[in-house]
Amino acid sequence: MPETPQDVLKMIQDENIELIDLKFVDLFGIWQHCTFHRSLIEEESFDEGIAFDGSSIRGWKAINASDMSMVPDASTAWFDPFMDTPTLSMVCSIKEPRTGEWYERDPRSLAARALEYLQSTGIGDTVYCGPEPEFFIFDDVRYDQNEHEGYYHVDSAEGMWNSGRSEDGGNLGFKTGYKRGYFPVSPSDTLQDIRTEMLLTMGNCGVPIEKHHHEVGTAGQCELGIRFSPLISAADNVMTYKYVVKNVARKYGKSATFMPKPVFNDNGSGMHTHMSIWKDGQPLFFGDNYADLSDLALYFIGGLLKHAPAVLAFTNPSLNSYKRLVPGFEAPVNLAYSQGNRSASIRIPLTGSNPKAKRLEFRCPDASSNPYLAFAAMLMAGLDGIQNKIDPGEALDVDIYELSPEELSKIPSTPGSLEGALSALAHDSEFLTKGGVFTEDFIDNYITYKLDNEVNPMRLRPHPFEYMLYY
Ligand code: GLU
Ligand code: MG
Ligand code: MG
Repeated sequence: MPETPQDVLKMIQDENIELIDLKFVDLFGIWQHCTFHRSLIEEESFDEGIAFDGSSIRGWKAINASDMSMVPDASTAWFDPFMDTPTLSMVCSIKEPRTGEWYERDPRSLAARALEYLQSTGIGDTVYCGPEPEFFIFDDVRYDQNEHEGYYHVDSAEGMWNSGRSEDGGNLGFKTGYKRGYFPVSPSDTLQDIRTEMLLTMGNCGVPIEKHHHEVGTAGQCELGIRFSPLISAADNVMTYKYVVKNVARKYGKSATFMPKPVFNDNGSGMHTHMSIWKDGQPLFFGDNYADLSDLALYFIGGLLKHAPAVLAFTNPSLNSYKRLVPGFEAPVNLAYSQGNRSASIRIPLTGSNPKAKRLEFRCPDASSNPYLAFAAMLMAGLDGIQNKIDPGEALDVDIYELSPEELSKIPSTPGSLEGALSALAHDSEFLTKGGVFTEDFIDNYITYKLDNEVNPMRLRPHPFEYMLYY
């Protein structure tokens, strides 16, 4: 894989690349792109960038100040496997052409500012992130209400999940049972080949691949495993992951969704994120406290738990995110930490005596998030914990789902809605604005956009379930 602009230019020559596809992430974690003829890419492009009109990108510029430039990062170049013409893909950050500054609402530049801030504190110089996005694969049929009637039906007597269409009828014993998707072999697992193609394709796009498997969700829930990377590459990898998954699914006549809770009463899709801080090549989270954590790691946890309601506005940024954060589906509900306990929102994986493997797993995030904003917000919350020596309290080594209401009431819980998370963010954002990482403008604009375009429009619409209850 190329590293420098010269490597990329050489590759364009040597490999007869015709087109260069420049991709950048918008506020909501969706890749946008524009494709250029090879003759337009020269060495300066990697510094000054290539101009485009930013006024039509949601939540960015006004029409009267719309000129922006996308600056490709040479280390992100790969052949785009979904284009017929030889095309090199690169990920960009966004600059203001007038000032030459990075655009403050560009999530990728924001993540870079978070790292610079970490370095400026002297606490560490590198953050490793290991995201675990989950998703569902569905047949790419247009939604049909009548067909949907019999599509997901739980037979409570048998605890049997009928994932077949209504016309299947008869004995459905051969079908994967309710919450039994994790992980019987084929033919129960009908998605083996498609996942293999997704994983290998992703590997060819520079993502460090590890494994793939079916997930618990009966109706086609999957996970591809990728190796941890430094924060920005980890976020780039999540973008490539989603791009490849959706495009391979399409090739098979399927559609893939990272929506956190697409199926009522089945497991949702998370994007657990492992994180650790390093300095001078040394890991900082290993020590002799609970679960072999260092003081620094405990303070990080203290900060993340304290600011979690606000952090969730970025790690769980959709209305649908909060339908996942409910008891009984391996998703976290309470703000607590624990070793090995998957019902806590922060889990400390059992990693033996290897200091380099010591990390925490934040289980709240889902893949409807923008990974640059999600990882940056987590980091800033943890850093605030370190700077203010925030005590995370006692670990919670019980199954939180099994606690009595009285015991449970002592543990703070995740916000119940996007509105709750946005309101927490409105009241708790100082930890994010340190070092100008998230600016106040960024946060205000984000909250307003989410309220105006998601929370309020949803509130105005009668829900199908209301018809069942009240019609
Ligand atoms: N799907 C679960 C979630 O919503 C996670 C399952 C797992 O532990 O991998 O977080
Ligand atoms: Mg999983
Ligand atoms: Mg996990």
